[in-house]
Formats: sequence, C-alpha cells, structure tokens
Amino acid sequence: MLLLVSLTISGAVWFSTDSQLREQINSELNVADQVVRNTLSTRESQLIQAAQVLTADYGFKQAVTSGDVDTIVSALSNHGERIGADLLAHLSLDGKVVASSSNSLQIHSDFTAPRLLQNAIEAEGASSFLGIEGRLFQVILLPVRAPDEVGVAVIGFHIDRSLVEDLQKISHRDISFVYENTPKSETNASNHTNTTSIAISTLSDTALQKVLESPVRTLGFRLPFYTSNEYLTREISLSSTPDTHLRVLLSLSEDALHQQYDTLKFEIFIISIFGILVSLLFGSIFANNISLPLQLLADAARRIASGDYQHRVDAGRSSQEVHDLNNAFVTMQTDLRLREERIAYQSQHDPLTGLLNRQRAIELIDEIIQHQPTTAHAAIAINTRDFRQVNETFGYAVGDEYLRQLAARMQRFTLNGALCARLGGDEFLVFLPVRGDLNARIRELAQQLEPPYQIKGLELRVNYRFATAQYPQDAKTAAVLLNKSDVAVDIARQRKLNLFHYEAAIEEARQQRLQIISDLRLALAANDGQLQMYYQPKICLRTGLPLRFEALIRWIHPTRGFIAPDSFIPLAEQSGLIQALTDFVVATVIHQLDDWHHQDMPCTVAVNLSAQDVARPTLLDFILVELSARRLPRSSFSIEITESDIMSEPEKAVALLQRYRSEGISVAIDDFGTGFSSLSQLKNMPVNELKIDKGFVLQLANTENDQIIVRSTLELAHRFGLEVVAEGVETRESLALLQAWGCEWAQGYYFSRPLKASDVPAWMQAYRSSDKFVVNLR
Ligand code: C2E
Ligand code: CA
Ligand code: CA
Repeated sequence: MLLLVSLTISGAVWFSTDSQLREQINSELNVADQVVRNTLSTRESQLIQAAQVLTADYGFKQAVTSGDVDTIVSALSNHGERIGADLLAHLSLDGKVVASSSNSLQIHSDFTAPRLLQNAIEAEGASSFLGIEGRLFQVILLPVRAPDEVGVAVIGFHIDRSLVEDLQKISHRDISFVYENTPKSETNASNHTNTTSIAISTLSDTALQKVLESPVRTLGFRLPFYTSNEYLTREISLSSTPDTHLRVLLSLSEDALHQQYDTLKFEIFIISIFGILVSLLFGSIFANNISLPLQLLADAARRIASGDYQHRVDAGRSSQEVHDLNNAFVTMQTDLRLREERIAYQSQHDPLTGLLNRQRAIELIDEIIQHQPTTAHAAIAINTRDFRQVNETFGYAVGDEYLRQLAARMQRFTLNGALCARLGGDEFLVFLPVRGDLNARIRELAQQLEPPYQIKGLELRVNYRFATAQYPQDAKTAAVLLNKSDVAVDIARQRKLNLFHYEAAIEEARQQRLQIISDLRLALAANDGQLQMYYQPKICLRTGLPLRFEALIRWIHPTRGFIAPDSFIPLAEQSGLIQALTDFVVATVIHQLDDWHHQDMPCTVAVNLSAQDVARPTLLDFILVELSARRLPRSSFSIEITESDIMSEPEKAVALLQRYRSEGISVAIDDFGTGFSSLSQLKNMPVNELKIDKGFVLQLANTENDQIIVRSTLELAHRFGLEVVAEGVETRESLALLQAWGCEWAQGYYFSRPLKASDVPAWMQAYRSSDKFVVNLR
C-alpha cells in the first residue's frame, strides 16, 4: 500500500515538476526572445536616427559632393561618436568605400555586400547584419542625396562578446549569434569555400557545436543528477538575405534546469524509500510479534483439536499478550491431555475397584487372542455367593470395601499374566492362559480369595462360585467368550454348583427353552387354537358317575407339534408367563362349564394351579367374578395344587388356600406322596381332597410297596376327613384294589385319556353303556 502511495507521489512530483519546467522554459524563452529583439531593434532605431541626421548634414553632403575625404571622415566620426557607433563609412554608388572610420572597411576597397548596397539604393535605405573581416555588425545603409543620390552612408554597431554577455545577464539564457555569408557567385556557382561564418556565443565552443548540430526543442526524461549536456534551444531568425543568414540561438542547459528540482525529486525519493523501509520494518515486527505467533497458535489449536497433545506449543518470540496466550495454550493442552487421560482411564476402569471394566476387558482380550491365536485361554467368572446378604446384613459400605479387597487379591493373579476385570455387581473375571490343569488354577484362585476378609472389625467369610468359558473351544472372540462365561455363571447359579465349565449343548437347550417361552407368549397373545383345554374324567367309585373332570392344557405348536405340559409349564412359571396361561385356562374352563351346564350336563372341573397362581390374590377374585357372571355354582369349580408347591412355603400356602376354601372352592393336593409332607402339616391343610400320585398307582396291582403306601395314605386321608383321588389308573386290577380300600375317586387311561371338550358328551354316552361303568363292577 505504502509502496503504491510512494510511487504515486513520486510520479506526481516528477510529472508536475516536469510540466512546471516546461512552462517555465517557454515563458523564459519568450522573455529572452523579447529581450534580444528589443535590444536589437533599439539599436537599429538608434542607427537609423544617426544615419538620418548624418545624411541630412549639409556640411557632410557638401563634402561628399566635393569629394573632400577628410571632411567626410570627420563628419562620420562626429556623428558616430554621438551614438557610439563602431562602423561608419561612405560608399560610392558603384560600391567603393569612399571614406571609413574603422579599419574594417578600407578606403578604395569594394563593399563586401554589394547586394545590400543595391537594396539600400533602391529602397531608400536598408537595415541588416554584416560580417566584415570576422566581425559581426548591425548596420544601416542610407542613400545620401544632394539632391541627387551621390552615395550611401553606412553606420553600424559591432555585435561583440560584451553585447552577448549583457543580453545573457538580462535574459538569463545563453545567447549565440551565428552569422553565415554565402555569396552567390555567378562564375563559381558550386564553390562553397568562400562561405564565412561568425559565431558569438556565451556557450563554450563544444556546447555551441552541439546546439548547432542537434538543437533540442522539448524537455526530455532525465534521471536526477544525471548530466546529459543537452541544451534546449530556441532559434530567432533575423535578416535573411539570399547570401547572408543570422540566427540567434537562445539556449538553456537541460542539466541546469533539472538541477533545481533534482534535490526535491531526490528528497521525495529518499522519503519514499525511508517510508517503505519503515513500513517494512513495522510490518515485519508486527508479523513477528503478532501475525506469525497467532498463525502458530492457530496451528497448535488445530493440532490439539485433532488430539495431538505431545507437540510443544511455541509461538516464538512475541509480545507479552501473545506470550500470555501461548502460556494459556500450553496450560490448556496439558489440562486437556490430563482430562482425556482421566476420561480414558475412567472409561476403561471400574471406579470402585480400579479393575478393568467389561468393555476394556473385551478390547484387551481380543488383543491377546490376536497376538496368541494358538494359545488356549480361559475366562473365569467369579461370583460371590450370597453377596446380596453381605450388603443387606452389613450395609453397602462393607459391601464396597469387600469388593475392593477382593479386587486387590485378584490383582495378585495379574502378576502371573492374568487379566482381571469387574464385569458388574459382584461379577469378576480372570482371563488367563491355560497351561496344565485349569481346575488346579481355579483351586489356586479360590485359595487366594477365600481367607476371611477383615472389614471394619468384621471377619467376613465368603464362598465363591466359578464358571469358565474357554478360547478357542467355546468362543473365538472376547465378546462371545464373556457371553459364554455369563451363561456358565447362570447355569452354575441355577444348579447351585461351585464350578461349572461352559458346554455348548446346555446352551442349546437353554436356547430352545427361550424359544419355547417366546413361542408360548405369542400363542397366548394370538389365542389362535394352538392352546386348548382337554378334560379327563374322574369316576366316582361309589356311584360310578363321571361327574368330575380335570382340565389339562394341550399345546399343538405349528412347527414342533405336540409339546407336553410337563416341559412348558415349568418354563411358563420361570418366565412369569404362567399368569397369562392360567388366566387363559380359567377363562376357557369356566366358559366350557357354562356350555355343559346349558346342555344339562352339570359337572365339576378341576384346574391345576401353580404356587405363583395361588399367591396372586386377583386370581381368586377373577374366578369368582367369572363364575357368578355365568351363574355357575362355586362347587362346579375346583383347584389342584401340587404337594411340593405347598411344601416350599407351607404357612403361606395355608393362608392362601384358606381363602379359596372360605369362598367355597374345593382344593385338592396333587401328586401326593412326592412332597414328603408331614402328617401334622396335612392336618392343618385347608384342603378337601388328596390325589395320590400316579407313580404309586400305575403299577399298583403288582407292586406291594405301592399297595402299602396307597393303602396307608387312604387310611390317613380318611382319618383327616379328606376324599382321595387315585390318578393313573390304567388297569381293572388297580381299580379293584382302590375300590376295595374305599378310595372315593379314580382317574386314568382305564376310563379315558384327557378328551377334547367336544368329545366329552359322546364319551359319557359310551361310558354309561360300557362294562367300565363302575357300578357294574360290583
Ligand atoms: P397332573 O396334574 O398330575 O396331571 C395328570 C397327568 O397324568 C396328565 O398328564 C395326564 O394325562 C396323566 N395321566 C392321567 N391318567 C393317566 C394314566 O392312566 N396313565 C398315565 N401314564 N398318565 C395318566 P399331562 O396332561 O401331560 O399333564 C402333566 C402335568 O402338567 C400335570 O400333571 C400338571 O401338573 C401339568 N398341567 C397340565 N395342564 C395344566 C394346566 O392347565 N395348568 C397347570 N398349572 N398345570 C397343568
Ligand atoms: Ca393335576
Ligand atoms: Ca397328578
């Protein structure tokens, strides 16, 4: 910018000084021109005046007429002195010098300019310049009349150096008079050798020579302080005759002209250079102190943003502010690095124990597997038994401290090349290469972990459950491996094992169970006939009437076909689906009861309930509401619950079953004989009926032990006022025994398999007329 401004200013100064100069030259030359012309014309008029006075002088005319040379000379001198003329002469009409006051014109010689003389005679006078013997004169020629023309008077001034110098002083210019005389001689036309030239000049000879050879008319370009030795010249042409030519040259030295502005131009040039230098200096100082450091800091910021914290931030030498900014950057970089490291640590470690977290463990295990793909490794999941109890009994502070100590003990294993992690809660993991016997390593680990923990004055004893999954046999990647070890932990927990090694077959079964659960959920939601209720009759052994039925669920899976209730009911119980399933059973059964009652087939249906169903208070309400909505007697609905379900929480069961009893719903103990209930408990049970498990009945006729059990059970039940149902009656012989021992009810394939509801009336018909009709037995 500044460079541009400087150049513009310099250019403008240059241009304006030059144009100024041009004008100055013009006006000065005009002045000089005027001065020269005025001077010459003043002198001319002086000459004319003197000549007129001379030619009018009577005495002079007399002397001319009489040819008195001395008198002529004297008159000429007198007149000449008056005006200080340098040349005075009288010429005869034929061009001879008659009289002369100066040596330049010799008496009796021929006048050097005959043509001029002729002009003067014809024109009654002539004014001109004359070169005589190397001297230049301004002359006037005037005819002398007495009264006829008798001669011509010549009077003139010498144009000499002093005149030229005077003119120079007035006009301040160099003045040169250059006179040339080239007489046209008829005899020798081509001869130029007799050309005479006279030059009177204030210039040196060489300068004059140059001006004459190549006169410069306009001002040219010139560098300051360069000496060109050129002259600007204007020419004034005076008195040109065919023979003679006088040029007056007004000259100016270009160098002198320019010199007056050279200093100015040079100063401006220097100032510009200085300004540019100063601006460059400040620019570079600014760049060094601000721009460059800021650029460096901007680069550093970009590097930091991309996560490079190692590169040193250095903005170089700079101002205090930039220096502070640099320091702030360095601090920010360090803080960011520390924070990122902390975040990375936190994201990879468990905050409580400082062990690796699950995510990080997976990453590292994958790395290990990649580096040692052929080495067998084991993921050992460590599960604290009853950790929940530790928390509940001693509080979470103790629980946390225990976990920390446990982690510290595990860490010792790390020294042997194991990787330790906390997967969550009380789930810990040790990942190690398997060399030799894995079980031995686990025993080692258990020995390490099992000694009592000293926590806040407590001595805490814990037991562990270990579950393993192994690379490469169980899984090829870390994530899958940990999943497998999780599965193994689950199975160990379910089976209450201290150590369990993952097995694919077990997981497949689990997978299948999960599939069944999800299919059952869909079947229940769809209610599309996959699930149906079948009814198996219980025969009253006193009357032979088939007035009671047990409702049994059937599931025909669209792809798997028939699935036995023994295999999906436990799954439904585990997954919480039993609630929906029982709702479906109850609703279907009551609907069916309603149907049969309308068909004038009043009967009673028993429904199997699990412990979870009984524990659900709303179920009884639901049953009661459904029954009363259809105006069915409560006696038409009854429930069965297995002995083992009751015995898992006997007191609770008693209270819950009491509700059913008090609402008038009959309760039967199912599978009696398998749950090892004590006699005293049986006494308090709010039940009406006892079902002897089919395991004792199926082979009853030929198994003496079964006979003893069944018989004593019957006696016992009767003593407590309970009716007895024998299930699994398949043969006539078994039935006969039961009948003989006073068993009230019989249920089994001997009478019928569980039936579709629609098949029940036909079966009834057939039964009554068959030989199985119990009454006929007697
Ligand atoms: P459970 O309550 O002991 O039912 C009696 C089982 O014995 C039924 O098997 C029945 O078909 C079978 N059975 C009856 N008479 C004979 C016989 O003479 N010989 C032989 N070998 N078996 C006989 P099912 O239907 O497979 O039911 C198995 C178990 O599934 C039932 O045992 C019951 O605990 C449960 N269950 C069935 N349906 C339901 C239901 O709707 N809800 C609930 N919670 N459990 C049900
Ligand atoms: Ca049953
Ligand atoms: Ca049973």
